[in-house]
Amino acid sequence: MQVKEWKKNIRTVVPYIPGEQPKEENVIKLNTNENPYPPSKKVMDKLKEIENLRLYPDPSAKLLVDEIAKHFHVNSNQVFVGVGSDDVLAMAFLTFFNGKNPIFFPDITYSFYDVWAELFRIPYEKQALDSEFRIKKEDYYKENGGIIFPNPNAPTGIGESLVFIEDIVKHNQDSVVIIDEAYVDFGGESAISLVEQYENLLVVQTFSKSRSMAGMRIGYAIGSETLIQAMQNVKYSFNSYTMNQPSISLGVESLKDQTYFEETVKKIINTREWFGEELKKLGFEFPNSKTNFLFVTHPIYSAKDMYEKARKERIYVRYFEKPRIDNYLRITIGTEEEMKALLTFFKKYMEIR
Ligand SMILES: *Cc1c(COP(=O)(O)O)cnc(C)c1O
Repeated sequence: MQVKEWKKNIRTVVPYIPGEQPKEENVIKLNTNENPYPPSKKVMDKLKEIENLRLYPDPSAKLLVDEIAKHFHVNSNQVFVGVGSDDVLAMAFLTFFNGKNPIFFPDITYSFYDVWAELFRIPYEKQALDSEFRIKKEDYYKENGGIIFPNPNAPTGIGESLVFIEDIVKHNQDSVVIIDEAYVDFGGESAISLVEQYENLLVVQTFSKSRSMAGMRIGYAIGSETLIQAMQNVKYSFNSYTMNQPSISLGVESLKDQTYFEETVKKIINTREWFGEELKKLGFEFPNSKTNFLFVTHPIYSAKDMYEKARKERIYVRYFEKPRIDNYLRITIGTEEEMKALLTFFKKYMEIR
């Protein structure tokens, strides 16, 4: 049978699959790195005052851009905002990765990167992490069309130092280097301090994890005026109104409450350290995490089986059926109570085997 001409012209992509959002109630949800605590009270109070939804939002999201600029001590023309960092990253791929050389990112990393590369038809080459899941920086010194990786990396949780990041940027002054800092607030070192010096460095962060606002969809990039202006031009050629009005004003409120932010981040770090010690007692192994999750494996028990059995008990963790990491679980750090429930599950699971 003849394939219709229009069908041949459909753009076919294999989409990114986000972590499951369970429909059932009373679940312990440790599978998508959400924050277990609510946003700042300032955010919730402001939410009740939201009005004028009949009007278009400010396309430049000026209030939010200015507040982010103030927070990080950069100029407003060095800040780009978008609908979560996924939107910001997609826009950055579209804006900067247009060369003939392949872009580089790690073989084990955020699985959206190859999806965007495929979607935008950007050539790419994955660089293998070493046997301990560390990025080998020399791999990134070869000729390339751009570089992107998260720091700390996901789903490994491993964070590299600012010196390490600067080395990669220094060796790549002819490429745009994007550092995805979705988890940096949980103990990583931010590269924002380098954007003044390196015009080709873009740092991307989000309100989804450390600021408990995944549902609001706020992400941003900080870089040189040149990079930010280029992204603005692409954005305004695509959709002027990316940020909705509530996101703009609630994002501002979140930034105003530094005390609450620091408190919740600290709680999560403390829970992570305690939970990690408990996991070690059960024989689990994992790299040192600078994020709000642990990437764990067990020498005896199968990750896939534990994932499936935990799910039946309404405890959701993340399992990736992928080369090199198919015997690992990525466990989001929830409240202490949630982590205790997971520990109870593991103990029961190990006894009944
Ligand atoms: C969560 C995450 C993002 C996307 O977060 P948004 O909710 O779109 O801001 C981007 N990169 C990494 C590595 C992440 O883990």
